[in-house]
Amino acid sequence: MQGFHKPIVVISKCLGFDPCRYNGDVIHDKFIEKLANFVTYITVCPEVEIGLGIPREPIRLVSNKSDKKIKLVQPKTESDLTVRMKNFADRFLDSLHDVDGFILKSRSPSCAISDAKVTSGMEKTHTISKNAGLFGDAVLKRYSHLAVEDEGRIKNFAIREHFLIKLFTLAHFNNIKRKNNFKDLLIFHSNNKYLFMAYNQVKLKELGRITANGKKMPVEEMYMRYEEVLADVLQERPSYTSNINVLHHIMGYFSKVLTKGEKEFFLNLVEQYRMNMVPLSSPVGVLKSWNARHKNMYLAEQTFFTPYPTQLIEITDSGKGRNFA
Ligand code: SF4
Repeated sequence: MQGFHKPIVVISKCLGFDPCRYNGDVIHDKFIEKLANFVTYITVCPEVEIGLGIPREPIRLVSNKSDKKIKLVQPKTESDLTVRMKNFADRFLDSLHDVDGFILKSRSPSCAISDAKVTSGMEKTHTISKNAGLFGDAVLKRYSHLAVEDEGRIKNFAIREHFLIKLFTLAHFNNIKRKNNFKDLLIFHSNNKYLFMAYNQVKLKELGRITANGKKMPVEEMYMRYEEVLADVLQERPSYTSNINVLHHIMGYFSKVLTKGEKEFFLNLVEQYRMNMVPLSSPVGVLKSWNARHKNMYLAEQTFFTPYPTQLIEITDSGKGRNFA
């Protein structure tokens, strides 16, 4: 397999880079620190960027009674920061050229992507709903097709796995897209066949039709159409049943050379994966070992086996939901 392209990730600055939280705190996160060796981070603190100091009075989201629009306010100073924050978000996002993903601070009225508290008025502290923060909302409106997560959600194994696969796949795609070469796209499509099959079999066929049509379409247009469908492919993480389908497909390459005992061992491992007793990497590891012995070059290039750097694999989990994707 080829090396990995280094993704560009925009990240909330308080996640280990600067003590810029409202109370002067910084949050250290081991996964974010480890990921720093494999990506290029662009840090941003939207609240500092709109001129709020460190430390600062807390700010929060409130829902406007009349039109239900969400505002960003600082109760102590009775300031409405909505326009300042929206303008900053637009300016900042306009200035980004190449970006593959975002890791934003959860629960922040500025950075959160889903779980910032919303209250009904400046003085009210009772939570009536949860929403993205204003900066997080602007990111999602523009970049929902990229790998976008918060530091709380990526503590979950399955969510982190999906985030990393999406991040490194898109970084590779964005890299070849800049070169605008037809052959690169064909290789990309071929090497990702089983990964995309696990993600979305129907859309995989659609991608295949785009690349098959290569000679009748300008390369630039082909990349654009491929990118649109690729966003759909990577939208939802694969179900364990579609991962099992791919495991069976790849096992088929070795069916003639395996002993009965080897087949039984593998199918038993797949069953354990189905029952959420072992991670996907267990049956995948067996397939890799068979391929190390039998050397199928097509399979050796498949990203399904190693979709992101192995040093980033961690079987830690926040304990919410199915453990193993
Ligand atoms: S959550 Fe966002 S706005 Fe708040 S301190 Fe962190 S980077 Fe700054």
